[in-house]
Amino acid sequence: MAIRFGSSGCGIEFAEEDNSSLLFVPDFIKRKGLNAFEYSFGHGYRMHEETAREVGLLFRKYDIKVSIHAPYYINFANPDEEMYHKSEGYLRTGIKFLRAFGYADHLVFHSGSCGKEDRQICLDRIKYRFEKTFDKFEKEGLFKDIWLCPETMGKPLQIGSYKEVVDFCLIHPKVVPTFDFGHINALTQGSLKGKDDYKRIIDYSIEKLGKEKMDNCHIHFSKIQYGEKGEIRHLNFEDDIYGPDYEPLMEILADYKLGARVISESAGMQPRDAKIMKDYFEKYSNSLK
Ligand SMILES: [Zn+2]
Ligand SMILES: [Zn+2]
Repeated sequence: MAIRFGSSGCGIEFAEEDNSSLLFVPDFIKRKGLNAFEYSFGHGYRMHEETAREVGLLFRKYDIKVSIHAPYYINFANPDEEMYHKSEGYLRTGIKFLRAFGYADHLVFHSGSCGKEDRQICLDRIKYRFEKTFDKFEKEGLFKDIWLCPETMGKPLQIGSYKEVVDFCLIHPKVVPTFDFGHINALTQGSLKGKDDYKRIIDYSIEKLGKEKMDNCHIHFSKIQYGEKGEIRHLNFEDDIYGPDYEPLMEILADYKLGARVISESAGMQPRDAKIMKDYFEKYSNSLK
């Protein structure tokens, strides 16, 4: 899978173009020089499947691969069985929408949050439930052509350090990480400073999951303001206080020829910042030849 760069949503530039219909999005993303797009259902699946099918044909026409972000209220750590079944349902609906978009293959989701409970108990519960759910999905043929992508999270009570996420990905061959490097940086109080800091994470993941699986991994990137309790808010590339910097990551991705999907989650300026990363990646890759 070749590396692709895209945007989560369209940001303020699209809003300024005064053409709010979803049907204009593929053309807009193409004009921005990108070849991936993430549609966020963070606040619920508010779309008709028919609309997804219609816009999906345009994404295919422009060769823009679509990913979906599942609702934020997924929580596989909640002891309540009802909440577990709902969470499973949200993944199932996400897969249904991937199928409707057609030219779409990555479902990003947050694994859960553990509140006051012991973290290990939460992790064991999530793993047990993931095993059951992924097994069910496998039997129903839901994994065909799609990847489930649990995300690394930005706050200490949320489940999803990069090692926890890599562990979840060992459960099924079609489960791959979403590395949100802004989250990783926020959670660890700004630990991503240079190339080696990114390299450590990528090396660890390749060792555990293998290069082939990592070639299908998902990446979220934005600068993020953080405090003692981790993530506070997403920033864009105008920020020069919090980081992290995208340049060292682009160099690692090029050095390793990693086939990742890189999605900008910059505040308001996602398409512009995605293109900045893409341009830097291409310039650096060419310098290696
Ligand atoms: Zn997310
Ligand atoms: Zn993210």
